[in-house]
Amino acid sequence: MKKVILIKNGELVLKGLNRSTFEDMLIKNMRRRLSPLGTFNFIKAQSTIIAEPQDEDVDFDEAVERIKRVFGIVAFSVAGVTEKDLEKIKEAVMEFLGDDLRSVKTFKVNAKRSDKKFQYKSPEICREVGGYILSKIPSLKVDVHNPELTVTVEVRDKHVFVHGNQIKGAGGMPVGSSGRAALLLSGGIDSPVAGYMMAKRGLVLTAIHFAAPPYTSPRAELKVKKLASLVARYSGRINFAVVPFTEIQEHIKDNCPEELFTIIMRRLMMKVALRIAEQDKCQALITGESLGQVASQTIGAIACTDAVSTMPVFRPCIGMDKEEIISIARKIDTFETSLEPYEDCCTVFTPRHPRTRPTLSLIEEAEAKVDFEEMIQKAVAETRFCSVDGE
Ligand code: ATP
Ligand code: MG
Repeated sequence: MKKVILIKNGELVLKGLNRSTFEDMLIKNMRRRLSPLGTFNFIKAQSTIIAEPQDEDVDFDEAVERIKRVFGIVAFSVAGVTEKDLEKIKEAVMEFLGDDLRSVKTFKVNAKRSDKKFQYKSPEICREVGGYILSKIPSLKVDVHNPELTVTVEVRDKHVFVHGNQIKGAGGMPVGSSGRAALLLSGGIDSPVAGYMMAKRGLVLTAIHFAAPPYTSPRAELKVKKLASLVARYSGRINFAVVPFTEIQEHIKDNCPEELFTIIMRRLMMKVALRIAEQDKCQALITGESLGQVASQTIGAIACTDAVSTMPVFRPCIGMDKEEIISIARKIDTFETSLEPYEDCCTVFTPRHPRTRPTLSLIEEAEAKVDFEEMIQKAVAETRFCSVDGE
């Protein structure tokens, strides 16, 4: 039987006049994500988008897995396609959903008739199809309030679609609908989660990673690239930038008070990130910080890092416990990779007693003793870029 995917888009419905642009963005994202499986035709129909494969033998299981990771979708279903004929509909339901129906105890039929000229009204369709199912599987019971399986029959312009329970989508907004932002991506648990969360709100990601060779190894960099590719399974292609940060870190270590190392390093990371972000047409920075998690994430420390930023800094993990962040990391499959034990540039020169309540004037005074501008320019100029796609 011919099959299609019926996609229900989410918040898009709220967007009024922008809706069509949003839908086009969602379609573009789905087309790209499904392209390794074959060519799909996309048709917009009311609050549904119909994805129709153009090739035979499309791997629908893989298509389902891929659609589950596309933001901007509330729910979707794989549907069998049949003709606008009641007998054909009944046969299609049994052919397409027979196995599912045999594995449950209760069901109901839900009919949607967008073609009002179809000779049977919705209650008649439900009755007829429901009766037919019961005649084939007499052990089944109808439960209109809480059925295990809802059989939906959608009568549309040219065809009838039949499908079972809907599959939950990834939610959020289509990537690209909110613009672009730069994710400061370490090898830790939090920043990949932060990137996932902001891509969910419609942002395309540039990822910026600070490396400090020879203190950090090429293997550490590969790990971060792997994390970027796992996030890209949701966010789509990521522009991945690796910044050589050793020189700046060594100058901080040799010239600034030890208790301020971390905070000064974070401010310099921001300064470099802002320039790369600007070059790459980003409008915000994203970090994986969570309030109070470490000394550099107290309210005072965050105020000091924010003071250098000319762009909004999004910190979607700010109010989350580590456990909550980990549960998302597990869901998006970044957790295991984050646990791989490679050094991060942050841990290269960790002060023994970092200041948790730094004052901005003290920091600015310490920074003024070193001319970082040239080093910042050099780090930006020597940044290496590559594109990272989802696996
Ligand atoms: P994560 O688990 O994301 O590494 P963390 O709890 O280890 O976070 P920090 O090491 O203080 O916290 O880093 C805070 C944030 O700063 C990170 O979430 C990330 O956004 C950014 N960051 C830290 N190190 C790097 C790095 N080497 N390259 C890019 N960004 C970094
Ligand atoms: Mg870290």
